[in-house]
Amino acid sequence: MMTTTKIMTLPRRGGFNTLCFSLTAEQGARFQTWRKEHDKVCRLRESSGRWTFEFTPTGVGDVTIVRCGCGEKVNLTRYGDW
Ligand SMILES: [Zn+2]
Repeated sequence: MMTTTKIMTLPRRGGFNTLCFSLTAEQGARFQTWRKEHDKVCRLRESSGRWTFEFTPTGVGDVTIVRCGCGEKVNLTRYGDW
């Protein structure tokens, strides 16, 4: 099971605000399932920098997308939680 956490800091007047983004176990499993199928057609092989994790906070939840270096992507957003 894959769990990925991205941490970034946003500059803020008077200090820093820390945000933490992560994939749930369910999202990790969905990513692995998609990745297995995608590997059959993708020209890229495993390497550092192949995957980009995008987290876009909204008022109701985070839009979560993982992009492969080839341009394909999978949407892992948990709309059921919104
Ligand atoms: Zn690809």
